[in-house]
Amino acid sequence: MIDFAAERDAMVEHTIRRRGLDRPALLAAFRTVPREEFVSGNYAGHAYDDGPLPIESGQTISQPYIVALTIDAAGIGPTDKVLEIGAGSGYAAAILGQMAREVIAIERHAELVELARERIERLRYDNVRIVEGDGSRGCPAEAPFDAVVAAASGSHVPTVLVDQLKPGGRIVMPIGAPHSIQSLVKLTKKEDGTLEREDLGAVRFVPLIGEHGFANTTF
Ligand code: SAH
Repeated sequence: MIDFAAERDAMVEHTIRRRGLDRPALLAAFRTVPREEFVSGNYAGHAYDDGPLPIESGQTISQPYIVALTIDAAGIGPTDKVLEIGAGSGYAAAILGQMAREVIAIERHAELVELARERIERLRYDNVRIVEGDGSRGCPAEAPFDAVVAAASGSHVPTVLVDQLKPGGRIVMPIGAPHSIQSLVKLTKKEDGTLEREDLGAVRFVPLIGEHGFANTTF
């Protein structure tokens, strides 16, 4: 029997807190959400390794440290309405749900939507909603957002996403070519509508496929 709770605490300590991400709300969220519930059964024993794992539809659940880095950069607070693009397994959406008021997580693969929705409902993350669709368009029906967190990479940040941000809102998104090293970029929409850009380091994410992302070829 694996002691998942002990592994979870150790993961938070070694791969998140000791690597410099130490905001209490972030650590509390990672200590609460059971990652083993978001990976397929075969991989449960690796749920607390600090690496990505394969999920259905040929996608991946991101490395815990990178999920933490992305969410930390987005500066999520308890009154925020957040859009996650690329819900995948639903894990990052569940973490966001612990820190924000409301989370809309959009995913293009119907199979993943169904699995993520089942998990989110079973674990009672009532402020998290999994939506099927093309997140490269954002989610106009639910806009505006305080923060947008993209778990898939684009060649640029689509303007439609900036348009769906409140003044003071943040977007964190990996920018670069598919299947290469990308740069994690944070854009902050200032009160006057202008954007401030920060580069947060090198990452590797699956491509954002859609109208304002890459074309759907073999992904
Ligand atoms: N946040 C996820 C990581 C999933 S990987 C987790 O915690 O498990 C990125 C996901 O983005 C993939 O599931 C992929 O299908 C999805 N994706 C790619 N392009 C998309 C788009 N235009 N709209 C919505 N989801 C997209």
